[in-house]
Amino acid sequence: MTDQDKKYMKEALKQAKKAYALDETPIGCVIVYEGKIISRGYNRRNVDKNTLAHAELAAIKKASRKLGDWRLEGCTMYVTLEPCPMCAGAIVQARITRVVIGCMNPKAGCAGSVLNLLQMDGFNHKVEIETGILEEECSQLMSGFFRELRKKKKEQDALRKSSVQSTIK
Ligand SMILES: [Zn+2]
Repeated sequence: MTDQDKKYMKEALKQAKKAYALDETPIGCVIVYEGKIISRGYNRRNVDKNTLAHAELAAIKKASRKLGDWRLEGCTMYVTLEPCPMCAGAIVQARITRVVIGCMNPKAGCAGSVLNLLQMDGFNHKVEIETGILEEECSQLMSGFFRELRKKKKEQDALRKSSVQSTIK
């Protein structure tokens, strides 16, 4: 793990916190080219009501606009959570050179957990993978978010029950 990788993962974490502030699952991403961040993205699936609104796809779209090319060869993506099948597919399609991952996603991750779409023998492009960069921070952000979500849900349920009871009385 290099200081450079940590520095850019911190930027990805900042993006994830933007998602958190919108009550979205906190996933953030930045794309780096020639030592510079060329795009940023965060999960907006609920806000945009769009399954395509993942952090990685937003960042890929912006990076392509910036470079004027759908090919993102030479780019490194920093993402706080292991990419899903859709995003892993887009990463291969965009020919991104390297993906640096914060924490793994055992239920949906496609950079080695469920599948490794980034390094399939049959595909014409393989992606270098680096995992566990600022893993602690990335996974704590996720678990904190879900803990809070469960708490909110419990409170809402309790509120609903008490209002139902007061109507019955
Ligand atoms: Zn995704």
